[in-house]
Formats: sequence, structure tokens, C-alpha cells
Amino acid sequence: PHVAVETDVAIIGAGPTGLFAVFECGMLRMKCVVIDTLEAIGGQCAALYPEKPIYDIPAHPAISGGALIERLQEQAAPFSPIHLLGRRVEALTPQEGGFALRTSKGEVVRARAVIIAAGAGAFGPNRPPLNDLAAYEASGAVRYMVARREELRGKRVVIAGGGDSAVDWALSLKDIAARVTVVHRRPKFRAAPESVAQMEAAAARGEIDLAIPYQLHGLRGAGGELSEVVLATLKGEERAVPADHLLAFFGLSMELGPIAEWGLGLERSHITVNPATLETSTPGIHAIGDIATYPGKLKLILQGFSEAAMAAHAIHPRIFPGEALHFEYSTSKGVPAE
Ligand code: FAD
Repeated sequence: PHVAVETDVAIIGAGPTGLFAVFECGMLRMKCVVIDTLEAIGGQCAALYPEKPIYDIPAHPAISGGALIERLQEQAAPFSPIHLLGRRVEALTPQEGGFALRTSKGEVVRARAVIIAAGAGAFGPNRPPLNDLAAYEASGAVRYMVARREELRGKRVVIAGGGDSAVDWALSLKDIAARVTVVHRRPKFRAAPESVAQMEAAAARGEIDLAIPYQLHGLRGAGGELSEVVLATLKGEERAVPADHLLAFFGLSMELGPIAEWGLGLERSHITVNPATLETSTPGIHAIGDIATYPGKLKLILQGFSEAAMAAHAIHPRIFPGEALHFEYSTSKGVPAE
């Protein structure tokens, strides 16, 4: 297979601890590649609570999840990490002089050491249990996010879900789509009240169809082309809505996924590590942040930062064998100009 990139340290997960590990490795002259399933960096902070303030980051009395990630990116920037986003690491295998990581896009990243900063696992959309889902996903008929709104111009779109994504996309797409139908299993939406009011007003004007209380029941079409989305009430009354696309917004879930099959010591879906080095049961593979466990572990960002520093120091002799590592403060060393 095609080798995409070679690096000193491959970091799996672009959450806060993975991003800080880039800085800590960089200070020790180790180059990093960061891989994440999500299209954007930031892990839970960016995906789950970008606007919520965090109060226990040292020296930040309050900082939002999104702002924390921006600051971490800025801090790591002088070390020019390579970000491989939108792909999951599927396989991690030891090989001569290090490890090979294979991603869901088929690339291979070769690294001399690995830091797993995978949080609670890879993020992915919650999928509705529908017939032939894979074929409709592959054709783009069923989607869990909208990258380009224009692609839905003139299309008949069914939007499922009761949160902000469903409501916001209904409001956005009603102006360009041929038809927008919002399916929700109950009248109450868990979204910004102002947006819900706008959506209800648009429905009253006939610009949006609300299918409530309905749930997704089935997909009809051929060869991945969608023609109808079948809805059903809890009592089993069915209704078919002509549609080209189904947008399902049922939130994100995290699953350990392939990591469980890499032969690492695990304890209840966490990777067990030596707390002095954050090394897993496989030498050269370290785990930090929410995914790592040891006696006294706290699942806090600040502890993940400290683990990143300890892992980087523990990895150094593997990258620079025989070279003594003299402990230095960042104040005496400085950070390279970008
Ligand atoms: P994560 O942030 O979970 O990032 C892991 C990343 O790894 C994800 O992006 C995932 O997609 C990726 N990944 C996993 N597996 C793979 C794979 N196989 N291939 C590619 N990518 C993969 N903590 C605090 O300290 N203070 C707080 O106030 C606080 N408030 C919180 C509020 C909420 C609502 C939530 C949900 C969490 C809060 N936390 C807080 C917890 C904090 O967000 C986590 O401790 C932190 O995000 C863990 O960082 P991480 O880098 O270990 O993992």
C-alpha cells in the first residue's frame, strides 16, 4: 500500500491532549502527524461543547471549548504538525523500526512511536436502523452532515431529528430545496427556542412540512437512488414522503472501534498504561487523555496535558537513541519561530 507519510510520532486523536502532545513532542524535536476521524480538530471540546465555558484549565478562569482548541492549535503551530483529518485509524501494527498505521482512506502512516489520544473512541454519527442504509449512504442520498448546502438545491429533503442541527438545516434549506420535511417523534424540539419558533412559523406558511409524531421506518428506491422515505407512528400508521435525500441528525456517538483489536492491555474500554511513562502493554505505543487509565487517573483535560509531557519525554530515547535528554524549561529554550 501507498505510504502517505513518515514521522517520528503518530498521534491518534486531535482532541485537547493530542494537540498538546504535538507541542510537547515538538519541544523535544520530534515531528508529529495527527489523525482524527472528525473533519475538524478539537475532539470533544469542539464537537460536543464549543461554546460552553470550561473553568478548570489552569490560568484560564473561564475559556470555551472552542477557544481552548484555537489556543492549543496556535501553541502547536510552530512545530508544523501534519493533520490527517476525516479518517479513522483502522490498524496499528509493529514493523521494523516502528509502527504502521492504516487509515480508513487506505493510507499508511509510518511512525517510530505512537501516542493514542483517542478519548472515548472515534466519533461517528448515530445511524438510524433502516433497510439498505449502506447503499444509500454510499450514494450520498442519506447523509449525517451537509458539507455543501448548494448540493441540496432543488432537492426533496427529509430531515430527521429534534435538535439544533435538524432545526437549523430545515430553516437553511427551505429557501433552496424543492421540499423540506422535518420528522420528529414528539412535538417538543430540543433546540434554540427562537429557531424552533421560526421553523413552526415557516411550517404555518407552508414552507416546511412537519411530520410529527413520526419516526423513520424505511427507505424506498433503487441502486442507491432514494425515491421515498417511509415514516411510521408508534401505533404503526405509515406514510411515505417523496425524497431525494435523508439528513439524519441523531447526534454523535463514540466507539472504541478498532483500538480494541490492537492487542493492547485494556480495562473496561480504557487502555491500561504505566503512569510514569504512559506506555501501554506494547513498548513504543503510549496512551494519554481520556482513553488512558491507571490508579488515580482523573478524566480531566489538565491531567491529559501533563500526560502528554510525560509521554513525550518517555518517547525521546526511542527517536534519539543514545542522546542524553537534558531537562530544560521552555523559558530557557524558547519555541522556534513559525
Ligand atoms: P477527546 O477530546 O475525546 O478526543 C479524542 C479524539 O480522538 C476524537 O476527536 C476522536 O474522533 C478521535 N479518535 C478516536 N479514535 C480514533 C481512531 N481510531 N482514529 C482516528 N481518530 C480517533 N474536562 C475538563 O477538564 N473540564 C471540564 O470542565 C470539562 N467539561 C466537559 C463538558 C462536556 C459537555 C463534556 C462532554 C466533556 C467535558 N470535559 C471536561 C471532558 C473533556 O472534554 C475530556 O476530558 C477531553 O476532551 C479529553 O480529551 P482527549 O484529547 O483525551 O480526547
